Amino acid sequence: GLAMTVTACGSDDGGESAGDGGTSQSGGAEGKIGVILPDTESSVRWESADRPALAEAFEAAGVEYDIQNAEGDAERMTQIADTMIGDGVTVLAIVNLDSESGAAIQEKASSQGVATIDYDRLTLGGSAEYYVSFDNTVVGELQGQGLADCLGEKDANIVYLNGSPTDNNATLFAEGAHSVLDGMSNYKVVGEQAVPDWDNEEAATIFQQLYTAANGKVDGVLAANDGLAGAAIGILEGNGQAGKVPVTGQDATVEGLQNVLAGTQCMTVYKSATQEAEALAEAAIALVNGDEAETTGTTTDSEGGRDVPSILLEPQSITKDNVGDVIEDGGQKAEDVCTGEF
Ligand code: BGC
Repeated sequence: GLAMTVTACGSDDGGESAGDGGTSQSGGAEGKIGVILPDTESSVRWESADRPALAEAFEAAGVEYDIQNAEGDAERMTQIADTMIGDGVTVLAIVNLDSESGAAIQEKASSQGVATIDYDRLTLGGSAEYYVSFDNTVVGELQGQGLADCLGEKDANIVYLNGSPTDNNATLFAEGAHSVLDGMSNYKVVGEQAVPDWDNEEAATIFQQLYTAANGKVDGVLAANDGLAGAAIGILEGNGQAGKVPVTGQDATVEGLQNVLAGTQCMTVYKSATQEAEALAEAAIALVNGDEAETTGTTTDSEGGRDVPSILLEPQSITKDNVGDVIEDGGQKAEDVCTGEF
């Protein structure tokens, strides 16, 4: 019970987030928007934050929509896309499971006259009209800086637990973190591995291996999201090191924020689902109307050799001091986060 935690958990301003079943229609704007989320396991964000925020954004815009989840199966995503195209969606937004399957889905959509948008993850070699996301290199930089702030000036051995090798974001997160930490001569990388599909259970196994290989001499963990952080914290706990070894994260999940408040996680990164969903809705509606959406710039798709018009939002670093910001913004509810003794 520190004073600062009163700010996070002493407030009753939880914001309201709309729960939603998934499919709806409310004839306002023309067109129909299909969104395919990637899975339920790599992060709780897709179902708990993105789905309700997307439903709210589309309802506010008065546009028909259909939100589905591919449950980690690229073939299933392809089938859902086919069904959506058959059902007459005019814009299809995907969070790809890998660039190859994502690009194939987009190519098929565009051959049927359906415009596509990359939601959150850029599809390398894809053909999306827009890329809506956060500045993911900055996410990595915030993680690197957050870890450095927690470690301080001392010499420290760092282990990296990176996201899925099939997720372009994971590449950007790692690049951003390295760009900050590699320049600090007191830090040494003693282990680094990507976690296939962001799988949390596999992350625990991988972290245990890296930890053992480093003879337990690990002083800091750059974990790419809150799920991977939780896996690392579990192993550290088993070794009496939880709370002593700072661990980074991302997504400002309930678990992540609770770990931050408990002191077992050094920071997380908040990316407002409301902002991202609203940006997607705007881009999709522009496409439906034949207008151009307002972009923040372009992102180079190194594989496809093209510049993708992008709407990139600003992520926010969250430590013990400003967990309350997430709650105030409606990113989580106080009643969900403040269940323990923080
Ligand atoms: C997203 C992260 C998420 C991860 C796992 C990334 O592409 O940007 O927010 O934690 O995928 O789902």
